[in-house]
Amino acid sequence: MRYVSTRDKKLNMTAAQAIATGLSRDGGLFTPESFPIVSMAEIGELCKADYRARAVKIMKLFLDEFSEEEIAGFAAKAYSDNYDTADSAPLRKLDDKTAFLELWHGPTCAFKDMALQMLPHLLTASLKKTGETRQVCILVATSGDTGKAALEGFKDVEGTSILVFYPEDGVSDVQKLQMTTQEGENVGVCAVKGNFDDAQSGVKAIFSDEQLRAELDGRGYFLSSANSINWGRLLPQVVYYFSAYCDMVNADLVSLGDKVNFCVPTGNFGNILAGYYARKMGLPVNRLVCASNANNVLTDFIKTGTYDRNRPFHTTVSPSMDILISSNLERLLFDLSGMDDEQIREWMAKLNSEGRYTVTGEVKAGLDAVFSGGFCDDDMTRETIGKLYKERGCLIDTHTAVAYKVLCDYRAETGDNTPAAVVSTASPYKFCGAVLEAIGETADAPGLELVDKLSAATGTVIPKPLEALRSKTQRFRESVEKTEMKEVVKGFLK
Ligand SMILES: *Cc1c(COP(=O)(O)O)cnc(C)c1O
Repeated sequence: MRYVSTRDKKLNMTAAQAIATGLSRDGGLFTPESFPIVSMAEIGELCKADYRARAVKIMKLFLDEFSEEEIAGFAAKAYSDNYDTADSAPLRKLDDKTAFLELWHGPTCAFKDMALQMLPHLLTASLKKTGETRQVCILVATSGDTGKAALEGFKDVEGTSILVFYPEDGVSDVQKLQMTTQEGENVGVCAVKGNFDDAQSGVKAIFSDEQLRAELDGRGYFLSSANSINWGRLLPQVVYYFSAYCDMVNADLVSLGDKVNFCVPTGNFGNILAGYYARKMGLPVNRLVCASNANNVLTDFIKTGTYDRNRPFHTTVSPSMDILISSNLERLLFDLSGMDDEQIREWMAKLNSEGRYTVTGEVKAGLDAVFSGGFCDDDMTRETIGKLYKERGCLIDTHTAVAYKVLCDYRAETGDNTPAAVVSTASPYKFCGAVLEAIGETADAPGLELVDKLSAATGTVIPKPLEALRSKTQRFRESVEKTEMKEVVKGFLK
């Protein structure tokens, strides 16, 4: 199995090289050259296996240089008692044709854990296989979820260190507490005075600083990132689509071989792309419904074939989907265009210069054959949470609510009542304020008090990782100007 760059398919690598490299030099994303097929008999076998075994079976198909034992070792570390459920990705049935695929039972209560608990093991093994002797330092600028999930994933992983910058005024109380109390010997957390863009552009400047790079190299370090364009973050996500299908069969929502739909709350297009790859591998998926919030650039793209980021940016109650450039869409376009790297280069250049591009009729037809899209604004998100809670006793977070509402709209519009899984990406406790308001409570207290209030109001249990924050000591208090970030990196990697 070789991996090629979406912008130059002559550039091809092994899995370990692609994971160790991250982003291709030409700006493209590494993508498998072909996709293995999983037969219905094999899917039947997966139905009897637990999540870890399912992960080993699916991931092995893409990782030639890794032995099954090696991957089983990673899975045992990534998906075990760091999850508060026996199964790392449990399916919760709502009715005869609808279920939630809950991906938020890991250490940070959001779905990024599914990939970031696995990535550090894949990355360190890949670095060894490619002969890298320096120590990797993961540098992250975060608007909330990713930073904490990366910290939890990389904490105390040998041969790595991780430094996270977050905007001082751009994350919630709970998110700040989650990061500043982070445990582990190889971790660093630092606030940046300013907003997310300040933190992000500071990190970008550090990555492109050749002098700093040389200096760190001399000390035996190199910098890398943990963002969702790395193949090592995408691959673990393919697993839970197979797992969800098996659990739908096991729960009698469908019979083995019947098709299902998935509805996915989408930001950077990583999650739903993994579903597309699972479908390509033979998983019986009818349609993938792409759900957006008021930042509905993908809804428009799926309807019209024109991607246009020239529009106002909205700050919403589902902040992890507040994105106008969905990086992983590039991988889908590469596939739908028949791996036309020249075409991808042209569209991405246009996105850069004009903020928009229009795909060919062929690509649009490929898109129409699989994807539907819809969006849901903040008022409707809150209404959906309130209604589902009051009428069915089911409490969901804001991102999941966007997807659930879009699925309901899709069914009403198309009459397609294929059994569907709504991909549930965060615990309602992670977005307490908005969830409390949605069920008719006020949300005027600081961080952990809101967590208590949600528990008291709904009689639901506070997730352990959030409960545990109470007894943790604050380790990281540093707050710097954007211009001082480079010094923080140097001090961290002494
Ligand atoms: C990151 C995130 C998303 C969006 O996922 P993508 O892979 O970027 O499309 C949705 N919901 C939550 C809670 C997230 O953290």
